[in-house]
Amino acid sequence: MATKRKSAKAVRIPLMALRGLMIFPHMVLHFDVGRPRSIAALEAAMLENQRIFLVAQHDAEVEEPGVEDICRVGTIATIKQVLNLPGDSLRVLVEGQQRAVFKSAVQEDPYWIADVLPIRDEAAEDDPTVQALMRTTHDFFDEYAKASMRVSPETLRSVKEVDAPDQLADVIAANVLTRLEDRQAILEEVSVAARLETLCGILVRETELAGIEKQVQGRIRKQLEKNQKDYYLREQIRAIQEELGDDNSSQNDELRERMRKTPLSDEAREKVERELDRLSRMAPGTPEISVSQTYIEWILDLPWGAYTTDNLDLKRARRILDEEHYGMQQVKDRVIEYLAVRRMKQMNTQEGSLKGPILCFVGPPGVGKTSIVKCIAKAVGRKFVQMSLGGVRDEAEIRGHRRTYIGAIPGRIIAGMKQSGTMNPVFLFDEIDKMSNDFRGDPASAMLEVLDGEQNGAFRDHYLELPFDLSQVMFITTANSVETIPGPLLDRMEIIEVPSYTEEEKLQIAKKHLLHRQVTEHGLTKGSVRIGDAAMKMIIEGYTREAGVRTLTRTIARVVRKAAVDMLENDLEQVTVSREKVQKYLGAQRYLRDLPEKKPCVGVVNGLAYTTVGGETLQVECTVMTGSGNLSLTGQLGDVMKESARAALSWVRAHAAEYELQPDFHKNIDIHIHVPEGAVPKDGPSAGVTMATALVSALTERPVRQDVAMTGEITLRGRVLPIGGVKEKMLAAYRAGIKTLLLPMENKKDLEEIPERVRNTFSVHFMENIEDVLKIALLSK
Ligand code: ADP
Repeated sequence: MATKRKSAKAVRIPLMALRGLMIFPHMVLHFDVGRPRSIAALEAAMLENQRIFLVAQHDAEVEEPGVEDICRVGTIATIKQVLNLPGDSLRVLVEGQQRAVFKSAVQEDPYWIADVLPIRDEAAEDDPTVQALMRTTHDFFDEYAKASMRVSPETLRSVKEVDAPDQLADVIAANVLTRLEDRQAILEEVSVAARLETLCGILVRETELAGIEKQVQGRIRKQLEKNQKDYYLREQIRAIQEELGDDNSSQNDELRERMRKTPLSDEAREKVERELDRLSRMAPGTPEISVSQTYIEWILDLPWGAYTTDNLDLKRARRILDEEHYGMQQVKDRVIEYLAVRRMKQMNTQEGSLKGPILCFVGPPGVGKTSIVKCIAKAVGRKFVQMSLGGVRDEAEIRGHRRTYIGAIPGRIIAGMKQSGTMNPVFLFDEIDKMSNDFRGDPASAMLEVLDGEQNGAFRDHYLELPFDLSQVMFITTANSVETIPGPLLDRMEIIEVPSYTEEEKLQIAKKHLLHRQVTEHGLTKGSVRIGDAAMKMIIEGYTREAGVRTLTRTIARVVRKAAVDMLENDLEQVTVSREKVQKYLGAQRYLRDLPEKKPCVGVVNGLAYTTVGGETLQVECTVMTGSGNLSLTGQLGDVMKESARAALSWVRAHAAEYELQPDFHKNIDIHIHVPEGAVPKDGPSAGVTMATALVSALTERPVRQDVAMTGEITLRGRVLPIGGVKEKMLAAYRAGIKTLLLPMENKKDLEEIPERVRNTFSVHFMENIEDVLKIALLSK
């Protein structure tokens, strides 16, 4: 080490322990003394040479320190002044002289006397290491002074003025170090160089701390300023709002109260609470408030925990179903079965839930699919909601929009649940086939989740962002045709066909239900308008042509209105509508069933089609002209129908000889097949025989009987294959006044489900191949 020390002799001197204080050589300090031992030491020192050894206690709290409680290094000081204070304490002024190391205690009571070893620092101005350390210390000190801003100008000046290396560290430590440990560390470094080094370390650390402190302070100040500003502004707004009288806190209280009363799910409660908290923190007048309130209201409006009890009385259910709907046996039976199973389950397991398949009623429009579902709800005692999926193109319609969208609302499932007011309504999805028809994909996949018993216990709407239990809902769907329902959806549903009505069935429906309903709906007394069977038949056959009874309902309504006018004008109590009156009320018949016998003609054949709206007659026309072997097909035809036209042509070419045609007849002609009246697209193979017949007739110029209608698929070899929708097709033929019906042999069994009255109006022929058809339908030239 650069500093040299003279070996000093130990001195015996009174000792005073300092609490939370210490003194460096060359420095002046005044402090109060209260402890008896300290006062005694002071007095002893005063009596001798006013010198006293001052040393810091490790722990300021210790009242009566022992040897182990005091530091090893202290300062020998001269007492300059002693003042008596009120009470027993004294105030002293001391000046530090010299570092000294505590050696041993000679006496402890009534005051300490210690042997200490004074340390004299050798002057070290010439030592280059010390010189360099001095400079470094000055630099670090300047840096610290800049960073901390706590160093006073006087201190700066007095530090600059120090040029004794042994004092520099002491002056800086005494003036700027705040922690006692740091100062003591400097005091304990007996060598000058080590003292400066230690000080530099401390200064660097303090500089860094000061920097961090400054940052933190800046941040706190900014935050405080912002909070104050916000608070001030908010108070202003509140004052304005109060002045205007629109404070929203009462609304929030109301919502909170409602939340308390609603049996929400845990997750929902958490959501609402969080939202309410957010709401209470929003400054009044923020547009987000109403968004937030609407959201909470939506959640609270849902029928949490509200269930209706099912009425599982089968007799009553059957009575209600029969009361409002004629026929529809299959549907009614299935519903009764469903209830029966539920009841059994309830009796055996005490729990009412039943994950049955979703029922899907398939049939043409107007056959009562929707209205029977309403009736089912009534029979079971559940609420009823309905949602039409026709034209639904967007998943968001089912599942809602996320709340980040402006004006977002929940999807229609959740809206329906809210409307129903219970967790277990009968929920009807109308036209599930139309949704898929227009837009496959997303809406269908959302529907899958809704209809899947495994998943719908926690249905998630995008807007609500909460799982909602749909598992107790009884879902029923309707469709016009099975073909366009996407496969996965179809898998989850049990299809129940609701077929078209015969004229006889329509008569019963009209007599038993429609007329009464119209009479009461028009505010007339029951029985005031009567329509006889003959007149009703005339309405059905002459004014409507449909699979269901919608037009019929409307037509009866017209009759009822006219009758009401009649009654008022002629002062009648009651009107019985006869056939003549029907004509008078409704004008001339629109459809004539007994068509005047049409003359047989070439290239025109009556076919029968089964479309989504029920059965239809369809006239296939075929003409032949000179050309170059082209086959054109027009009318709204699907691919399958076009293919069967080609198959028909191939069959005719293969059998050209039998029909006295040239083997290469097709080469110099063009053939045009047309299927008119095409509002409803037609497809399917069942027009095969019809097109083949039209072709042969056009090519051979043999006329076709117009009182004959036919349906059937053909193969290339001319075999006639069975087709679907026999009942609908026969009803269509019946309505069109056809007398002779040609059906595939294999459809013979289907005839059983046709009411006898209809069956008996036809002569029905069953065919195995196309030759059988041609034999009956074609006349000779
Ligand atoms: P869909 O849903 O099949 O298109 P709707 O349920 O709308 O048919 O039925 C149309 C109207 O016809 C309703 O007023 C309904 O009450 C009535 N209706 C249909 N079928 C019957 C029936 N079998 N008995 C009584 N009314 C019927």
